[in-house]
Amino acid sequence: MTAPALPRPDFNEYPLWSPNYQSREGTPIDLWLWHTEEGDIGDPNAADDLARNDLDNASSQVSYHYTASQAPDGGVTVCDVVDTDMASWSVLSANDRSIDFCIAGSTVNWTRTQWLANSKVIDVGCYLSVLDCLKYSTLLFQGAPRVIAPDPNNTDLYHSDPPGISDHKYVTEYLGDGTHSDMGPNFPWDYVTERTAYWWTALTAKATPDPPATGGTVTTPPVTTPTTPPAPFVYPSDHDLAVQTWEQLFGPQAQGWSHLFGMTADGTRGKYLVEAIADLHAAAFPTATANVPAAILHAQRMLTPARAVQK
Ligand SMILES: [Zn+2]
Repeated sequence: MTAPALPRPDFNEYPLWSPNYQSREGTPIDLWLWHTEEGDIGDPNAADDLARNDLDNASSQVSYHYTASQAPDGGVTVCDVVDTDMASWSVLSANDRSIDFCIAGSTVNWTRTQWLANSKVIDVGCYLSVLDCLKYSTLLFQGAPRVIAPDPNNTDLYHSDPPGISDHKYVTEYLGDGTHSDMGPNFPWDYVTERTAYWWTALTAKATPDPPATGGTVTTPPVTTPTTPPAPFVYPSDHDLAVQTWEQLFGPQAQGWSHLFGMTADGTRGKYLVEAIADLHAAAFPTATANVPAAILHAQRMLTPARAVQK
């Protein structure tokens, strides 16, 4: 019996280990951080090139846990550069506490449109962040991954302590170390938040082992999420339906819709719906205005809610 395949985005992953790493010295992992490369822009093999030609070099003194990039055909490549049990050399004093993911070939200067053209590699990053959250529970906030995005009105501001998923700029601005500003002002944090929640739901829902097919004792019954059927739509009572329809035509208490359509010529009430439509018709077809007053009179005779007014 084979376990059902876990959901997974489509990407190619292989190791290109870097010599640039250190022991975490027992520091719990409570940050998962996004990075730009600020180089290799337009390089279809940016993840491989960054890992192979820069991070691979001990003299560069730089590394990430992952480099990733999206080729022009949409294919995503991930290179494993540093084992996540070790600290990469990415964020100064936050190295020991963080997992670091670099989108190779990217820059803080990208527009939202340019970022969303690379949505597949962002989605893969979200998926890997969730896998890491499942492996290192110290990354979780109240039992689930949390994206700590910068304040949309001031991208220098972050509002939460760790643990969480954020970016290099969080270390600069919130933890107060360094000067880097990646991911920049236009990174689509809304998309990251949505996809992170998606993968968390998908992977935690599928992570429950199936019971044995035959024999043995089922010690761990599968957790099924109770599904509450949606409540059936309930219409208002006949009386309320009639009142609501009536008021659409004649306004609340048959006083017309003065705020929407203005007052009648004699100023006694707001205009009814048909009178407002007549106004629109007169404006749209000015040559036909000669017929409008008579038409309004006719409509008023048909529709005037005399009984309601007299009641
Ligand atoms: Zn960075």
